[in-house]
Amino acid sequence: MLEELKATVLETARAAEAMGLCRHKSGNFSARDEATGLVCLTPSGLDRQRMTAADIVVIDPEARVVEAKPGIRPSSEALMHLAAYESRPDIRAVVHTHSRFALVFAVLRQPVPAVVAEMAHLNLKNGQIPVAPFGQQGTPALAESVKAPLQESDAILLASHGALAVDAVSPEGALLKAAYLEEVSEIYYRARLLAGDKPIPRLGTDDLTLRYPEAVQPA
Ligand code: 13P
Ligand code: ZN
Repeated sequence: MLEELKATVLETARAAEAMGLCRHKSGNFSARDEATGLVCLTPSGLDRQRMTAADIVVIDPEARVVEAKPGIRPSSEALMHLAAYESRPDIRAVVHTHSRFALVFAVLRQPVPAVVAEMAHLNLKNGQIPVAPFGQQGTPALAESVKAPLQESDAILLASHGALAVDAVSPEGALLKAAYLEEVSEIYYRARLLAGDKPIPRLGTDDLTLRYPEAVQPA
């Protein structure tokens, strides 16, 4: 069932690991099937090197397991993924990582302000990457905590835990946003070290609007 979507979720999970965005079995990945509303989700606690498409679990919006290999459980953050889909009906994919520079700001519980042009890809409504309030891993409280910040941005920090990115099209799109989040967190971290007391220039809503030059004609 949903074999193509499972393969995409697996590919994204492996790519995230190869990019260094999640290590030591941390993180989880999902995609929602538009036609059925079912969600393909990575299994809990499985090494991504050994994970196969058959290990990807299918759950319904009420977190009931629709399909899973014997002995395989869905990610412990299944409720968080479902909460993301519930609060953002426009999205089709969710990526959760513990990437390190994003985690620095998640630990400090400080939003990352819009200071880098590539943040134009993150759909920021309030000029910053927000921080979801702390919720213990695997709990309904964590699931609840992501709903409000996801109204503000396609990439958010999870207090003292990690990061979450969503995309309206595909797991690859959500992974790209998780990568941007990590990159801008690293740049902001370094800029703050060098800036000392000096303020770091912020980008406004207009600066963050994606544009393409009209003078360039398609082939
Ligand atoms: P799972 O292996 O259960 O998906 O947990 C990893 C994780 O990042 C928990 O927050
Ligand atoms: Zn986690």
